[in-house]
Amino acid sequence: MKYGILGKTGLEVSVVGLGGIPVQRTDKEGAAEIVRACMERGINFLDTARAYSVSEEFFGEVLKPYRDQWVIATKSMSRDYESMKADIEISLQNLQTDYIDLYQIHNIKTEEEFALCFGENGAYQALLEAKQEGKIRHIGATAHSIEAFARLIREYENEIETVMFPYNIVENQGEQLMAECGEKNIGFIAMKPIAGGNIDNTVLALKYILNNPDCSIVIPGMGNAEEVEQNTCEEVYQPLSEADKIECEKIAKELGNEFCRRCGYCEPCPKGINIPQNILLANYKKKYGLSDWAKVRYDAMEGKAEECIKCGVCETRCPYDLPIRSMLETVVKEMV
Ligand code: SF4
Ligand code: SF4
Repeated sequence: MKYGILGKTGLEVSVVGLGGIPVQRTDKEGAAEIVRACMERGINFLDTARAYSVSEEFFGEVLKPYRDQWVIATKSMSRDYESMKADIEISLQNLQTDYIDLYQIHNIKTEEEFALCFGENGAYQALLEAKQEGKIRHIGATAHSIEAFARLIREYENEIETVMFPYNIVENQGEQLMAECGEKNIGFIAMKPIAGGNIDNTVLALKYILNNPDCSIVIPGMGNAEEVEQNTCEEVYQPLSEADKIECEKIAKELGNEFCRRCGYCEPCPKGINIPQNILLANYKKKYGLSDWAKVRYDAMEGKAEECIKCGVCETRCPYDLPIRSMLETVVKEMV
């Protein structure tokens, strides 16, 4: 494992960290297996979130005996003082610890959200207070849009110590801002390293990200020991070869810009449509030729694309501004 300093926090972290989403698919035993594998491979950074259901809770229990060997980061969607204050307490309780190394304002987007978060009775005040009380040690933020990323590091560079943003072979629009993070010593945490499951070659995906010196750490989601092993193999730390670069270009061309990262932020849909699953099944049919496999699952699924009433609510929530309504129309053409 390689280690680096996470910007202004001064924390020494493994360059590959543990993304805490997939643990939701397993149980406490599964969480213990993931943590064991991570420790064997030198991973010392966990990124979880209040929004990842059981993730804080599972990892809290498993990491308790090793608390001082881990850097724990979590995050909350709270925007105002009171709810952020409450969320910090819940995180501390779930994570079974009396301090959290990095607490992040999660997925900040609009101008109103920025005003609320950093205003007089905003979430930032609660974080600052918790920092003064020793409940959290550092403050960061996460964003999905390039505008929010720019704003965070240009208008709030004194408030935040880290920023988390998607970065991968097909989403490298943040590279210039990543360089600014480097200049300002703001720790950059790369999320969505395989573009929400769209890149199959995980090793190349991580290698691509770790070849950017402005990236402090990448946090692939890992749901079992094999994934931990794969994501920490020697190859991911190597320089990109010419052949790798050609392969990266090929992947970027194939995926294009309009793909669903399966983040689920567009939900809930008033008609109960499982938007990412609908798109995924149609993708699998198209990409892997799994017509029967996809059709069986589509037919059995609740909340089919054909039930969409085109209200557009989902599109206002998608951080990638995807044309969900027309994407669902394509799903219907493929699947019905
Ligand atoms: S446009 Fe369709 S998928 Fe989106 S929220 Fe409305 S009904 Fe649901
Ligand atoms: S449509 Fe947008 S918000 Fe919904 S899961 Fe896909 S990327 Fe996320």
